[in-house]
Amino acid sequence: MTMETYTTYIEQQLSNPILRMVGSEADSMGLDCYVIGGWVRDLFLRRESKDIDIVVVGHPDQHVGDPDSPTSDPDKRSGIGITLAENVAKQLGKKAHLSVFRTYGTAQVKRGDLELEFVGARRESYQHDSRNPIVEDGTLQEDQNRRDFTINALAICLNSDRYGELLDPFDGIGDMTRCIIRTPLDPDITFSDDPLRMMRAVRFATQLGFNLDGETFDAIVRNRERLRIITRERIADELNKIMLSSRPSEGWILLDKTGLLPLIFPELVALKGVEVKEGRGHKDVFYHTLKVLDNVAELQSQKNNDQSPMTNHQSPIDPSGLWLRWAALLHDIGKPRSKAWDEHAGWTFRNHNYIGAKMIPGIFKRLKLPLNEKMEYVRKMVDLHMRPINLIEDTVTDSAVRRLLFEAGDDIDDLMMLCDADITSRNEEKKARFHANYILVRQKMVELEERDRIRNFQPPVKGDEIMELLHLEPCSLVGELKSAIKDAILDGIIPNEYEPAKEYLMKLARERGVIE
Ligand code: ATP
Ligand code: MG
Repeated sequence: MTMETYTTYIEQQLSNPILRMVGSEADSMGLDCYVIGGWVRDLFLRRESKDIDIVVVGHPDQHVGDPDSPTSDPDKRSGIGITLAENVAKQLGKKAHLSVFRTYGTAQVKRGDLELEFVGARRESYQHDSRNPIVEDGTLQEDQNRRDFTINALAICLNSDRYGELLDPFDGIGDMTRCIIRTPLDPDITFSDDPLRMMRAVRFATQLGFNLDGETFDAIVRNRERLRIITRERIADELNKIMLSSRPSEGWILLDKTGLLPLIFPELVALKGVEVKEGRGHKDVFYHTLKVLDNVAELQSQKNNDQSPMTNHQSPIDPSGLWLRWAALLHDIGKPRSKAWDEHAGWTFRNHNYIGAKMIPGIFKRLKLPLNEKMEYVRKMVDLHMRPINLIEDTVTDSAVRRLLFEAGDDIDDLMMLCDADITSRNEEKKARFHANYILVRQKMVELEERDRIRNFQPPVKGDEIMELLHLEPCSLVGELKSAIKDAILDGIIPNEYEPAKEYLMKLARERGVIE
């Protein structure tokens, strides 16, 4: 982008009539107001962002608290943010929705997909055992001081006489051009005050493709143990944001390098390293896993862009792909527990998919990830992840493909994507052979699915009907007959249709002497 188009873009964004109106409302109340934080950062980085944080500064001669003699009693904090929000909502009329959070001194105005968050400028002081600070009215500068990173401390004035003026006390713009995440003040204090910022540092570095500044990095290493005071839900939020970045591996590598990883996810640390015996080493499962994760991210974004080819910038990442990314991260998590040395075969990891699948609920519970169908999906993906590759390596029989379709159901496309991503061999010849077979298996899947509709398999003859036809009471035989029909369909002995299934049932019943 040329400098000119870049400036035009920023001017365009700032010419938003709502922002102008917020400024003139503040003017008429005699307040200073600034748009600050994430929105300003994303404006310069040209990222889409819908949440606009607005910080309001009162003057000592107003009945809104005196920034020079602040009080530590939150109840006495001024509600100037709220008052401005109320006036803005009034101006916007029915189209706007106002929510007020009096205990926090904040208010939100929503209009369409735009969210404006209003708060009075504040300064914060921390105690050792909590990340909840004592909050007091403050100046703009104090408000910027409490921000986590230089790139998140930028403010733009909205008052008419200074509209568009940038206040960048810590050279956040410079850090953006250098692609650096750096704390505005002493990083040891910043991280010790609120250790969540260590996770945020890694997350922003990953999302933006930035590096951690040296001092900032070292301070995370020194303060890493402080992460223990952070709730696991908040950590999970950051992990999910890392996972949804375009190269999530970078986040996990940074978590590892800073020493945060063992505090969050020891099972992942256990994947690191290569053991060599009799000159034979296995691959480093940690780095293999991260490669698979990035591969999934890339395949997903290719698929996204194929589906909406008209957009000329990268479409935002579809959050529904998150759980396949977790499946990628966890697909080999059972390997350390299944690792064994075999004189002939070398290193083996038998049943690692099964062992890994069993580990999923415990990991999800500890990380505070959802314990619902999302977890079930990840568990299933980990369990089945070897199946397509085994098909690819063997001669592909219809029966094996049908069985896989049956077990994966509607998740078959995701499973195949995971399998594709899992082919990370450095041996190009092997890789090419795998990919050729992979395409063959996919074709066969499409053909068989068209013919036999296995994905959402419903038995053509139901249990009730089996009992009626054969005059049986509910018993284990009914279940056996039902699954014999299912097997016959999956093995291609009979088609997935009612009449042939009924005929087959009667034949079985005769063979077993259930009927004459
Ligand atoms: P995103 O919305 O993409 O997560 P963001 O920077 O907008 O990024 P928010 O959590 O919405 O992040 O916070 C808005 C702003 O509030 C940040 O830009 C930063 O200035 C400040 N902020 C948020 N959390 C912290 C924190 N833990 N410590 C210091 N400042 C913070
Ligand atoms: Mg935000």
